Amino acid sequence: MTPVQYVKGIGPRVAELLEKLEIRRVCDLLFLFPRDYEDLTDRREIPDLEEGALQTVLGTVEDVELRNTGPGRCVLGVLLRGANGHLRGLWFNQPFFRERFTIGQRFLFSGKPKKNGLVWEMIHPRITALADDEPPPPGEILPIYPLTEGLLQWQMRRIMRAALDAYAGFLEEVFPAEYLEAHGLWPIQQALRAIHFPDSRKALDCARRRFIYQELFILQLALAVKRHQQRTYSRAPALVATPKIDARIRRLFPFELTPSQRQAIAEIVADMGRSEPMQRLLQGDVGSGKTVVAVYAMLLAVAHGYQAALMAPTEVLARQHAQNLDRLLAHSKVRRALLTGGLVPALREAVLAGIKAGKIDLVVGTHAVIQEEVQFAKLGVVVIDEQHKFGVRQRAALKSASATTPDALQPHYLVMTATPIPRTIAMSLFGDLELSTLRDSPPGRQKVHTYLVREAERARWWTFFAKKLREGRQGYVVAPLVEESDAIDAASVQAVYESLVNGPLEGFRLGLLHGRMSSEEKEAAMRDFRTGATQVLVCTSVVEVGVDVPNATLMTIEGGERFGLAQLHQLRGRISRGAHPGFCGVFADPQTPEAEQRLKAFQSTTDGFRLAEIDFELRGPGELLGWRQHGLPPFRIADLTRDAAILDEARRHAKELIELDPGLAHPDHARLRRQVLTRYGRALDLADVG
Ligand code: ADP
Ligand code: MG
Repeated sequence: MTPVQYVKGIGPRVAELLEKLEIRRVCDLLFLFPRDYEDLTDRREIPDLEEGALQTVLGTVEDVELRNTGPGRCVLGVLLRGANGHLRGLWFNQPFFRERFTIGQRFLFSGKPKKNGLVWEMIHPRITALADDEPPPPGEILPIYPLTEGLLQWQMRRIMRAALDAYAGFLEEVFPAEYLEAHGLWPIQQALRAIHFPDSRKALDCARRRFIYQELFILQLALAVKRHQQRTYSRAPALVATPKIDARIRRLFPFELTPSQRQAIAEIVADMGRSEPMQRLLQGDVGSGKTVVAVYAMLLAVAHGYQAALMAPTEVLARQHAQNLDRLLAHSKVRRALLTGGLVPALREAVLAGIKAGKIDLVVGTHAVIQEEVQFAKLGVVVIDEQHKFGVRQRAALKSASATTPDALQPHYLVMTATPIPRTIAMSLFGDLELSTLRDSPPGRQKVHTYLVREAERARWWTFFAKKLREGRQGYVVAPLVEESDAIDAASVQAVYESLVNGPLEGFRLGLLHGRMSSEEKEAAMRDFRTGATQVLVCTSVVEVGVDVPNATLMTIEGGERFGLAQLHQLRGRISRGAHPGFCGVFADPQTPEAEQRLKAFQSTTDGFRLAEIDFELRGPGELLGWRQHGLPPFRIADLTRDAAILDEARRHAKELIELDPGLAHPDHARLRRQVLTRYGRALDLADVG
């Protein structure tokens, strides 16, 4: 809690500058890790120098020359003779530097050399003078800190040294000593000194590893605690899939299940058969067939006399789910209801009453509606579709809303996402969930061809699009993403629509879909498209999630540079569902290298897992899954791409520790517990376990 002013060398002015870096207390300062290092340990003979990298050369001053190059301007050249050649150090407009050098004196010059004709040069190298017989000192690795205007790197280093000297000794270790020993981790004080001023690369690596490990370990510990709490404090009905129930459900599916659907169902059956709530994330690329897996879980609950709820992020998708269920369950006794914002009040009241009285077995709806208003008589399972649209917050809110079952049992949870999640992210963000993955897609899927359509090629694309429509195919046209309001989006859709009916798609039957339309209008638009009454659907990215019309094989995306990779992939997923190959044209005018890379990646592969990894590399995890939106504090030093191996280790160790000491109640673990609660208590809604 000590304010930074207590550190030697920090007066009110510097304290103010540090404040801009959000450094107020000494411990903020100590944990301001360098963003990079200047490595002066790379010693070279002059013939071995390479351009560009930071290197250090030992030599003797042979010549010093100060030349005026204009009014108030000069250049100082110092010629250093090494064992096998010469190197010239150059300083611009620093005449006073001349006095530092005498002929015959030994020096180390560190910098990035460049060859000028035959001579190597370094501009403004860092210099170290050596006495005649003094051996060169071991190389240094200097920290580079994030700075703010008015604060210089050397000042920051001096402040940091002073802070370390005075305060590092007071830092408390969070890990028990045996733990550090057993896992090869450096103690905090040693690690903290070394991360700021390492003696060697090796020391730096050890120090960094300790802090990266700690950061990831605390997160994994929080997730393990969370999962433990869920297991211990909540009970769910054990819903066993007897052979008879299993056969009855499978008979409903009009196709053979894929191997990974069978696998996922087996995992769900095992979970739901236990009296702890299932907490499972089902991930599978667009079109991999997640819905039937969900239907299985719901029917299993219904078979036991429990209710099931399926929540979708949009009304369009909720309706589609309801229709699919109508088809699958046409001859069954399962009582179903659709619950969305668009119902007329009387019907809505009736549905709510039916759910409360237990007269409805299976509810499909938008998450907002189910979450806020519904009381279930006996809820057995909740399926949340397209989880990437939901945050942890919503997940938690839902849980409390549905925990109203009179027998005080929690429902089982199945969360589905079509945004494939790189393993490291899944382990971090969803570490409290078990994971099932659909790797294969249903047989007979056709390839989708992707084209980046530049301005000049638009006419050709529309000619092609029209030709395919004449062959009997259907297509989507997605208007540019505006995202300011439904009204603006609607205008944008309208504009695209007008330009098409009066232009390249004249004479075809076009429909419209956007957020400004009423539920009935939306439903009618989807129905017309599904039946083929309209050939083209001009829409906003609301079709992004889950919409399934197998005859639609054409996709045009306007303003492609404004969509994220996951969104583009979702959109393309709409057209890989039938017997005909798909064609996806992206109109794009990328203004940044990142957008360019994103579009190239999108064109290069249809593998959603690969794309998710690329997305992750381009944007980082925060953006990808809304890290902040999930309420998780950002990492200080860990990087999930780079540190995947340490993450694995941390996760394993966290699990082991929680098995031994589930409440972190042992006095040795008190500090760990405190860190877990301070950092993640709120975000993960952890009850104090102690
Ligand atoms: P998503 O995983 O994107 O939600 P869906 O569940 O909507 O995918 O399934 C996509 C399409 O594949 C649907 O038309 C569905 O009926 C069909 N489908 C799902 N599983 C199979 C299967 N095993 N064999 C054939 N078709 C399947
Ligand atoms: Mg789906």
